[in-house]
Amino acid sequence: MLINYSFIGKLAVVLLAAIIIISAFVLLVAVISFKRRKLLFPKTILFILDVLYTPAKIICQTFFIRETLIDEILIEFRNAVLLEKYKQTTGKKILIGPHCMRHPNCKSRCDPQIGYVCTKCGLCKYAKIKKACEDAGYLLFIIPGDRFVKKIVKLHKPKKVLGIACFEELNESMHAISTILPVQGIPLLRDGCYNTDVDLKAVVKKLEDDTNV
Ligand code: SF4
Repeated sequence: MLINYSFIGKLAVVLLAAIIIISAFVLLVAVISFKRRKLLFPKTILFILDVLYTPAKIICQTFFIRETLIDEILIEFRNAVLLEKYKQTTGKKILIGPHCMRHPNCKSRCDPQIGYVCTKCGLCKYAKIKKACEDAGYLLFIIPGDRFVKKIVKLHKPKKVLGIACFEELNESMHAISTILPVQGIPLLRDGCYNTDVDLKAVVKKLEDDTNV
């Protein structure tokens, strides 16, 4: 049987062009609705952007657009799509935050099973976050890397998860967890793996809004 390489080549070009056009269109709709804070077709956009994540990132690179914009949009859309289910879910709830948000002089040590245990010494925002977690019935886990997320979820079997992380890690973890549990996420205000920061008011509000047990 003769293989028509010319036809296969043309088909590949058409498919590639279609992927680029669809990615660009979805990206445009997502950016416009994200900027206007009025999310259009959130479930559809979330699904297509999840599938076309890599081409969307390549488009951003090509046009010198901040690549993490894709992650930021996906976090916003996933938060919106899962919010009601998250609110209605009762049972064990946990907040997972990054160790890089701890004060550089933090004395807590890393436990291989549960990460860093905050003693609320008051040197960083985790003291207030832990207090808000206790008031809202959340368990707080401060982890040294995103590989810990699976371990925590497997070990503690929460019914829902609130996460704090940089855009890329948060999007990746929310994507993975959302297949088994309702999840919400708050991206860092300042990332960079050291001395990172989060909007404390946003975290406390998210916890206070969820007093379901
Ligand atoms: S508040 Fe908690 S996390 Fe922050 S420095 Fe003190 S013990 Fe460490």
